[in-house]
Amino acid sequence: MVRWGGTPIFFKSGSGCHVTDIDGNSYIDYVCSWGPLILGHAHPDVIKKIRSTASKGTSFGAPTVLETKLAKLIKEAVPSIEKVRFVNSGTEATMSAIRVARAFTGRELVVKFEGCYHGHVDGLLIKAGSGAATLGIPTSPGIPQGYASTTVVLPYNSLQAVEALCKERGREIACIILEPVAGNMGVVPPVPGYLEGLWKLTRANGIVLIFDEVMSGFRVSPGGAQGLYGIRPDLTTLGKIIGGGLPVGAYGGRADIMDKIAPLGAVYQAGTLSGNPVAMAAGVATLEALKEASLYERLEESSRNLAEGLERAARDSGVKTFHTRVGSMLCIFFTENRVTDWDSAKTSDTQHYAAYFRGMLERGVYLAPSQFEAAFVSTAHGGEDIEATIKASSEAMKGL
Ligand SMILES: *Cc1c(COP(=O)(O)O)cnc(C)c1O
Repeated sequence: MVRWGGTPIFFKSGSGCHVTDIDGNSYIDYVCSWGPLILGHAHPDVIKKIRSTASKGTSFGAPTVLETKLAKLIKEAVPSIEKVRFVNSGTEATMSAIRVARAFTGRELVVKFEGCYHGHVDGLLIKAGSGAATLGIPTSPGIPQGYASTTVVLPYNSLQAVEALCKERGREIACIILEPVAGNMGVVPPVPGYLEGLWKLTRANGIVLIFDEVMSGFRVSPGGAQGLYGIRPDLTTLGKIIGGGLPVGAYGGRADIMDKIAPLGAVYQAGTLSGNPVAMAAGVATLEALKEASLYERLEESSRNLAEGLERAARDSGVKTFHTRVGSMLCIFFTENRVTDWDSAKTSDTQHYAAYFRGMLERGVYLAPSQFEAAFVSTAHGGEDIEATIKASSEAMKGL
């Protein structure tokens, strides 16, 4: 019996692409802990490394070689990152990146985009995506007016909006932060020229460009969205995959900016458990496993097969949908409109999505319980799992 309707599912175990709830129901999982589990649940290499590391002590509050090793793996894959700092969550990473960008520029204004989610940082929880959008509280109470007034929110994928703001207040803007592939209002890829345009505008106005790749890092390509689209941001935030399923975040980028952080500079940032060896070990094991030849090609192939199958199933059922995918991040919007930003994402019929979600759950497929989230494919999703998912989708769509 599948239980749903306000009660979250309590999970008992996960293995590969499968999860089991406390009632013993098993599902093919496309949430993958909201993105980190690109290798699937309980990957043997990751678990082995966690075990052996934990048995030697779980925290020292001092550097370990594992931290250096993970930093090297990240720098190798993401060349814009000259220096990197580990923290405990994506939220901390974006919060800290903004602080150093403000200190570096001596400016206060932060520009973010509607529907982008950067964790629950006060100044960024304004017209935010993800759970905040789902629950209809994109701008959270409890955020002082002063914070909100230093954040300017613009529509995603509109260069004109950024150009206009830069003309008026370009010299007040410390940083522009964005998800280079938006994944927290459903999946919304950048339109051609958008990221290049932002790069040029930030050069012209002395603004720090921050790519929040907490979700897209090591997901849409080994080098993240910046690797995929060939753009070099000043700062990058990471999380999710680089922790291999343990709590982690990181921020890094240009050495001249990162050198503003104490002890070299005066910008304070610390964390009792930052660079925690067990989390670092899970990250190292994950990034090393991701180096396997043709792994991203195979992931791309299974993601494409899934996306094509889902699109076919929707078309055959006559339900109006718009499909997006970048690598192993994908989304079905229940709208006939092309989705390029939060306004168009919002035209989705969320009741329809909810019914579809329940239909899939009943057929053994666990999707995010919200229209405004991504579905993640892992390397553990095999051909049979993809086929079973498409079949379930076909039935669920027809039942709408
Ligand atoms: C998940 C996410 C965050 C927040 O990370 P947490 O570890 O949940 O704090 C920030 N930015 C993006 C793009 C994310 O997807």
